[in-house]
Amino acid sequence: MFIELEPIFNNIGEKLDFDYELDLSDIDLYTYYPFAQPVRVKGSVFNKAGVVQLRADTIFTYSAPCDRCARHTTKDLSIPVDHVLVTSLNDEENDELILVESLRFNLDELVTEDILLGLPTRHLCKEDCKGVCQYCGKNLNDDSCNCSAPLDPRLAALQQLLSNNDE
Ligand SMILES: [Zn+2]
Ligand SMILES: [Zn+2]
Repeated sequence: MFIELEPIFNNIGEKLDFDYELDLSDIDLYTYYPFAQPVRVKGSVFNKAGVVQLRADTIFTYSAPCDRCARHTTKDLSIPVDHVLVTSLNDEENDELILVESLRFNLDELVTEDILLGLPTRHLCKEDCKGVCQYCGKNLNDDSCNCSAPLDPRLAALQQLLSNNDE
């Protein structure tokens, strides 16, 4: 969605509300498509005392394999979008400031970037997910297995040596 920022920048107190659905279903993160349902974007852009702010909430269902056990897991997430829009930048470093290149502003681009940067770094099916056995591949949330770690090959060689000495 494009929003016209000119009236907002030109009029103190001006406000524009938006509430729409953004389709991110073609975003591919390492071979899965986590945004099967449209993302709801609800917020406003407003001029408060000459400062133009953009605030929104994004609400969506995120669906991806669990980082530990790879089981497909769906979660409802909400990521805030909060920026000050400026038409020129001094040399200050501030991630919150967004330099607007055109007053016909591409909101989707900014929202998409904020969502991708705001995704949780860990996606687990549950906080205490036990993962999979590294030897037999069984999902340890379902059942335990009888695997034990194979002996360190150096220790195995030592054990062999010791048992040879016994003979
Ligand atoms: Zn898991
Ligand atoms: Zn196992």
